[in-house]
Amino acid sequence: MGLHKIIIPTPFAVGDVNSYLIKGDALTLIDAGPKTPEAWLALKAGLKEANVTPEDIEQVVLTHHHPDHAGWVDGFENAKLYGHPYNDLWLRRDQAFFDYHDAFYLERLQEEGVPEELWFWVKKMKRPLNLLGDRPLDMTINEGDVLPGHPEWGVMETLGHAQSHLSFWNEESREMIGGDHVIAKVSSNPLIEPPFDPAEGRPKSLLQYNASLGRLLKMPIDVIYSGHGEEVRNVHELITQRLEKQHLRAMKVLDLLDGREGTVYDLTKQLFPHAYEKELGLTLSETIGQIDYLLEDGLILERLSDNGVFYYTKA
Ligand SMILES: [Zn+2]
Repeated sequence: MGLHKIIIPTPFAVGDVNSYLIKGDALTLIDAGPKTPEAWLALKAGLKEANVTPEDIEQVVLTHHHPDHAGWVDGFENAKLYGHPYNDLWLRRDQAFFDYHDAFYLERLQEEGVPEELWFWVKKMKRPLNLLGDRPLDMTINEGDVLPGHPEWGVMETLGHAQSHLSFWNEESREMIGGDHVIAKVSSNPLIEPPFDPAEGRPKSLLQYNASLGRLLKMPIDVIYSGHGEEVRNVHELITQRLEKQHLRAMKVLDLLDGREGTVYDLTKQLFPHAYEKELGLTLSETIGQIDYLLEDGLILERLSDNGVFYYTKA
């Protein structure tokens, strides 16, 4: 039995999002669209093509917690909800989490050298939470598990784009359900998100992402069913291209540090002169990714100033 793909509209720039229905010992829906009326109609219509109603769904499984994937988790009254443990922070989103979330981003903006008049961005870092479901997980799944009711689908933790990101791998059919880990048309943004455990400190999302991509290069994948757009069939070629492009972006950042010191904010303004004001969160996280990459390779040095700002120079 193959996968049944359901294409769902979203109000986001990324466009449509995909859900996948899997029939096995359980009837399982992977991802559940954003919580809009249009998305619910598309979900119901897509299920109907497979002669399934929302009440028939026994399990909803999340690739990650972003609102375009985790909206209608509470639309399936008979379904259990499974996903990476990190999802619960966002699905529950109690006051303690919001406090933690805001404190985390304020600390980031400060250390990145973002001027105080832009610190209001802390509040804008939250994704549109009204489109995200608010039902906690029934059970967590993670690396090394198999999907309940579908023993042929193994669970892989593929962090980077999200701190909750899972992919599902069918070794026999060489198919992967990849969420936003690999998308045909766009490279996934390794967003900066608060860590699951505050003691871990800021996740180095781009390094996580590259490591997660690197794992796929060693696997005989025929096709990835993505969270957005068409299936990816030239998996290794596409991943190799993406990793090369990222390396070139990092080299551009290295060039900007030629003979001078810079903060993440300085570099972001130079790299994205037209976009940084409107998309400060996304553009900063892109720059931080390149900085983490350059630090990891020993190409730059980091200095923490007395006022808590990190400055970078060429090594
Ligand atoms: Zn996402």
